[in-house]
Amino acid sequence: MDFETDYENRIVSTEYIPEDEGDNPLRPRTLEDYIGQEKVKENLSVYISAAKQRGEALDHVLLYGPPGLGKTTLSAIIANELGVNIRITSGPALERPGDLAALLTNLEPGDVLFIDEIHRLPRTVEEILYPAMEDFAIDIINGKGQGAASIHLPLPKFTLVGATTRAGQLTAPLRDRFGVIARLELYTPEELGRIVTRSAHILGITCDPDGAREIASRSRGTPRIANRLLKRVRDFAQVMNGDLIDQKTACQALDRMEIDELGLDMVDRRMLQAMIKHYNGGPVGLDTLAAVIGEEAVTIEDVYEPYLMQIGFLSRTPRGRVVLPAAYAHLGIPMQGQTTAPTQITFE
Ligand code: ADP
Repeated sequence: MDFETDYENRIVSTEYIPEDEGDNPLRPRTLEDYIGQEKVKENLSVYISAAKQRGEALDHVLLYGPPGLGKTTLSAIIANELGVNIRITSGPALERPGDLAALLTNLEPGDVLFIDEIHRLPRTVEEILYPAMEDFAIDIINGKGQGAASIHLPLPKFTLVGATTRAGQLTAPLRDRFGVIARLELYTPEELGRIVTRSAHILGITCDPDGAREIASRSRGTPRIANRLLKRVRDFAQVMNGDLIDQKTACQALDRMEIDELGLDMVDRRMLQAMIKHYNGGPVGLDTLAAVIGEEAVTIEDVYEPYLMQIGFLSRTPRGRVVLPAAYAHLGIPMQGQTTAPTQITFE
């Protein structure tokens, strides 16, 4: 099956696409401006105040949750609230221990080091992160063979903020070294509505409350998508409705983009339809599903599934993914009695 879909530039992808460039002014800079995630914010605000009062670096923080929920934004807010600098890097960018050592030795006391996709750190790099996090020191081997010498380098006390979409893939020694572990949740439509209104204000777009609500309810619980849809809908409003985004214009624009009232696009619908048509709704193994829609298994897990599970369309079972009755109803497909699953299913 080939759906000929442009996955890279899928408008409802939770992952960063070139279109998101220029989103910097939309990033909140303080905890107060950061909408939603109330529990995480409350706790962080206490830890930040306590660290500031003691004049110490904040404990290391691990943020996890699906892409586009505000992990990078929150790490910059943490640094801003602490009044320190932030250095930003990512797991795959740190190829050798020396790359990490160079970053660590250049930190000022109290600084934040943000490592995105921390689950993708190479093993050799991760190993020098352990003593850096725990003892604020690293040992570097200088030279080769008999003349090699180990140099002990003390580091300033810093805060590591790690972000990951998959906390389960972190090794136990790394996970155990984080004092604060915070899980970010998908946002409610009400919170997304506030985010859309705030972004519209910053971008100078006129968007009424019903227009904001319409965009929010189709944004899959994800601020990155909400901001992206807002910008696209603005183009339609400009041409169709004299710049005003109201509910009617938002609906028309989003329908034209083939994003339905729950935020599903063609890819979601085709995936669910294929599961129903070819596998009687499942269970379908993750790898089979990946082959059916021509996507990588990790992308399905990180990008498609969290939202489909949140709205009760899909469930993960030990034998594979299953389409739930709400999805049948949404797609207008009658549910048939479950029959035996086809033999080509691969179980996880
Ligand atoms: P992640 O690092 O989790 O992939 P980002 O921090 O890059 O996500 O956030 C994506 C976009 O969503 C940012 O441009 C930011 O403007 C917006 N955003 C994220 N969280 C919030 C929030 N709580 N309030 C307002 N805007 C947010």
